[in-house]
Amino acid sequence: MVRKIVLYPDPVLREKGRLVTEVTPEILTLAVDMLETMRDARGVGLAAQQVGEAVQLAVVDVSHDEECINFLKVNGEDRPLASIMPLVFINPVLEFGKRKETDIEGCLSFPDLRADVTRPGTVKAHLQTLEGKKLVIETDGLLCRAIQHEVDHLMGKLFIDRMSTAKRMSLKRILEDMREGRY
Ligand code: ZN
Repeated sequence: MVRKIVLYPDPVLREKGRLVTEVTPEILTLAVDMLETMRDARGVGLAAQQVGEAVQLAVVDVSHDEECINFLKVNGEDRPLASIMPLVFINPVLEFGKRKETDIEGCLSFPDLRADVTRPGTVKAHLQTLEGKKLVIETDGLLCRAIQHEVDHLMGKLFIDRMSTAKRMSLKRILEDMREGRY
């Protein structure tokens, strides 16, 4: 079922997600609904907070472009991108590479707002699947960026927090309009 996407400034977007300690039928349904909702909205990722649930569950799918990464290792082995898409994960912990990269980002909770965000260019993501498997994903490019963006959501952090002060100032009016429901 496609769920309604929560828009900024809904306070649930600022809530840190609870750890998923048990994969209940409700969590499974939520995950399926989040995949449908992400596809319906043509997004590359969605966090549970964006459908109103503050739990550490997110979905990512960047399989539209095989070239969007340079490398992918899963549990230490080279793997094709398609083999892990769509990615559904709970309770993530991230380790970041030193190199930074700036690229344009959007967010389904901020319709039509796109801006440059600087983030680490590589990541080592320790994730859990709904089947109870542990995944260690090392990658770069769009998958790296999407995982970081979604994990931020799970911690109550938003991409506007990662923008430069100058960029945030230039978006001040739009953000004010969103906060006051004029957008
Ligand atoms: Zn987002």
